[in-house]
Amino acid sequence: MKYCIGIDVGGTTVKMGIFEAEGRLIRKWEIPTRKGEGGKQFIGDAAESIRKALSELQISMEDVLGAGMGVPGPVVANGYVDVCVNLGLHKCYPGDDLSKALGGVKVCLGNDANVAALGEMWQGAGKGHNSICMVTLGTGVGGGLVNEGRMISGVHGLAGEIGHMHVQDEEPEVCNCGGHGCLEQYASATGIVRVAKRNLARTRRASAMRDFGEALSAKDVCDCAKAGDQVALESIRYSMRKLAIVMSHIAMGTDPKLFVIGGGVSRAGSFLTDMIGEYLRDYTPMIGDDPDEVVLAELGNDAGIYGAAKLVLED
Ligand SMILES: [Zn+2]
Repeated sequence: MKYCIGIDVGGTTVKMGIFEAEGRLIRKWEIPTRKGEGGKQFIGDAAESIRKALSELQISMEDVLGAGMGVPGPVVANGYVDVCVNLGLHKCYPGDDLSKALGGVKVCLGNDANVAALGEMWQGAGKGHNSICMVTLGTGVGGGLVNEGRMISGVHGLAGEIGHMHVQDEEPEVCNCGGHGCLEQYASATGIVRVAKRNLARTRRASAMRDFGEALSAKDVCDCAKAGDQVALESIRYSMRKLAIVMSHIAMGTDPKLFVIGGGVSRAGSFLTDMIGEYLRDYTPMIGDDPDEVVLAELGNDAGIYGAAKLVLED
């Protein structure tokens, strides 16, 4: 039996999993992300806890095909990280350090959102397909593209950064990336709330959303819309239409089989995916009617470790 290891590095925790090469997850756990040593302290910590887990499972290092690691920042295809703000990494090859700490085992590196897309393709909502786009609607909007089985990183490691695709001119507020009018400003959890508050300020119509005041959340907007609140419905439609415009461009750019929607906002379920799918079909008449083109993610927070493990098998 051969095994591979998946590591998903976040700003607060490092998630790890040991997988059979066929895709079965046999153990998962997490440790806090320590950022000392130029942001690299977590690498030694991860290696140590992986060695411990392997020894408990009586798996020899010789049977480990390699380890994949997803990090929250742009990664160039050769594993170079110019800057990773959340971890404090700067101009380095973190995969090489992990490989050394694990006794020379093969290590593959990728951006966390791209890696999560690979995970959903391998054992999640995209199982059985080899070209998918994953959209993560959380605090921001993340994205990952897998084309014909390969994760796309791009020249700058920015492939799949759909949250920063431009969808609106004359947006006065500035996005985290320094741009104005990025998708993230309308379709992330914070973007959905921003759009809803703008709509509330613009109208005197009654809306249950007003009861939440400043504390209004994306979930509240979705819940109100589901309950038939017109202002909420118009708001979420506006947000999801922006997303569908970006998805239609991807559809015509890399032509994936399906779009997998994940992240906290996706808990609104088929209410959201049905709405996105309707707009997307409107915008892509050449693709024809495929009711299953937009689906919910299935692996939740584990998508990253699945995808990281799959990176090893891809290489
Ligand atoms: Zn942006």
